Amino acid sequence: MEYIKKVFKSKTNKHYYYIYRSFTRNGKQFEEFVRDATIEEIKAFNSAKERDKNLTTQICANPFCENNFRITKQEKILFYLIEPRDKKKFQFQYCSEKCREEHGELLRTK
Ligand SMILES: [Zn+2]
Repeated sequence: MEYIKKVFKSKTNKHYYYIYRSFTRNGKQFEEFVRDATIEEIKAFNSAKERDKNLTTQICANPFCENNFRITKQEKILFYLIEPRDKKKFQFQYCSEKCREEHGELLRTK
């Protein structure tokens, strides 16, 4: 698998972007330098990092599910603050529609 790696060099006080390849040999994990990253790859890498910074991990509200999922920080504020305050209704967050239905069913039955 190839991936981009951001490397800081104190000698020049700059970040460099390289493409590395990871592979397994005799059950051990290795990585090797492939080439310098292109401008497009650097841009894509940095915008993905920006997106990641803006995501927060949530736990599925279904008590029998252990899944995590990611929502943006804005969605979290919307779900847990703005909507409950404005609509006087609180919504649980689920990893899937199946979990939402299952939990709904469980809440309705005793
Ligand atoms: Zn779930």
